[in-house]
Amino acid sequence: MVKLGFAMVTMNCPKCGAPFEYEPGMRFKKCDYCGTMIYIDKSRVMFYYVIPFSLSKQQAIQTFRRWAAGPKMEKGLENSKIKSIKPMFFPVYRFVRTVNGKEQVIIKPAKTTLLPGLTKLKVPPGDMKIFDASFNPGDAEIVKADLSMDTYMQALPGKEKEQEIVFFPIYEIRYEFQGKEYNVVMDASSGEVFTSYYPPRSSVPYLAIAGTTFILTAIGAAIGTMVHPTGWLVTLFGLIVGIGGGYYIAKKY
Ligand SMILES: [Zn+2]
Repeated sequence: MVKLGFAMVTMNCPKCGAPFEYEPGMRFKKCDYCGTMIYIDKSRVMFYYVIPFSLSKQQAIQTFRRWAAGPKMEKGLENSKIKSIKPMFFPVYRFVRTVNGKEQVIIKPAKTTLLPGLTKLKVPPGDMKIFDASFNPGDAEIVKADLSMDTYMQALPGKEKEQEIVFFPIYEIRYEFQGKEYNVVMDASSGEVFTSYYPPRSSVPYLAIAGTTFILTAIGAAIGTMVHPTGWLVTLFGLIVGIGGGYYIAKKY
């Protein structure tokens, strides 16, 4: 019987050598024989790599609380209520390029996402393992890639040296602070926290400075109308506190 439609292409699994068929244009395939995940990109056949979680959920929450207690954070943020903590293996492309004679590693998300930080992940090469059937993802969701490697390749600097797909361990932590919900992404191999938005530090110091300036200036002006010499000194003092305080706060926050 003549098979109609797409001509199937036969290849061999790079891990166990078992033959497998795939449709042209298909990018992701699991070897039926050994369970290894394979990425097919034009003439290239690649492995998937995976980086194991090095932070447990509990450690991730502790890391989050340390981050939330940082000097730029709103008071009390470290005591936010954790709504959910979701472990995920997020797919990224790791491109190794030669740019002006130097090796450069570029990470790009392999999945469209609104989650912050996923272009800033650092992939430690020593921690990469081949993603095969022996790999146990536990309760972490394996996020499917939907972006092609080719799309990035054309725009990357330098010369192609090596590329692979790496499943990166992340936690998405959703938390509630003063009745509003926020999220962060945590690199579950390094503990680095990424966020696009978090509760801003309150504007109380600005208001305090503005208020102090106003009051001192008013007092100065009031005294100035009664006793001339001390009056303008107080006014000047008010202005110095206002300008100096404003500058100090602007630099600090
Ligand atoms: Zn195989």
